[in-house]
Amino acid sequence: MTSKEEIISNIKFNYTKVRNEIIEKAQREYRNPGEITLIAVSKTFSTEILEYALESGIRIFGENYAQEVRDKIAFFEDKPVKPHWHFIGHLQTNKVKYLIPYIKLIHTVDSFELASEINKRAEQYNLIQNILIQVNTSSEETKYGILPEDAINLSQSVLSLHNLNLIGLMTIGTFSTDESVIREEFSMLRNLRYEVNNKLGIEKLTELSMGMSNDYLIAIEEGSTILRVGTAIFGERNYSKT
Ligand SMILES: *Cc1c(COP(=O)(O)O)cnc(C)c1O
Repeated sequence: MTSKEEIISNIKFNYTKVRNEIIEKAQREYRNPGEITLIAVSKTFSTEILEYALESGIRIFGENYAQEVRDKIAFFEDKPVKPHWHFIGHLQTNKVKYLIPYIKLIHTVDSFELASEINKRAEQYNLIQNILIQVNTSSEETKYGILPEDAINLSQSVLSLHNLNLIGLMTIGTFSTDESVIREEFSMLRNLRYEVNNKLGIEKLTELSMGMSNDYLIAIEEGSTILRVGTAIFGERNYSKT
């Protein structure tokens, strides 16, 4: 058994290391490190570990599974210090009810139907929900997200939903040892954000959610503003999720 102090010290060490690498890389790219948000991806980790992470100073957490985050939200409801939640997993329309009004940013909107449901729930709570549109920038058929060529259309129709605030795009890089493959996907997302803003005559898409434990430094080079890092902070996941 690892003691509480050891776990906290490990998480703190890892988080600081990742943060420092981000700052260093951003400065080398002439970017302001302050415009890059680091999300600690805590999916499959227990609320106990999350409490330790909070004690380590981490505030922004990413979760993938609607029921899991619902239970975690309930756990922290009466706690003095609460996580700021981001939802980064595939989202089914019938699970949206678990997320609203608790999630700062939903990264994974990939259909108008899903957007409409989120809009409806947000309206019930009289809030504006921040969202990203997830784009499948690789040609892998197994991955979620819309095709790049559909980004303008979906963005345009989402703009008509008044309880949604579309602030950018998200993608998951292909798990590859070939850096150039990942880089091309990230650069495609950056270009796509520019194109959507340009074609729709808007400037509100400012965020690019891209970069995970194995590719966040590449993502910074390609303009990422939100990094979703799990393993490099919490260690390997135990996949037997609740
Ligand atoms: C699990 C997950 C992450 C974190 O992955 P790591 O490799 O553990 O950093 C980031 N983004 C999404 C969408 C994920 O599902």
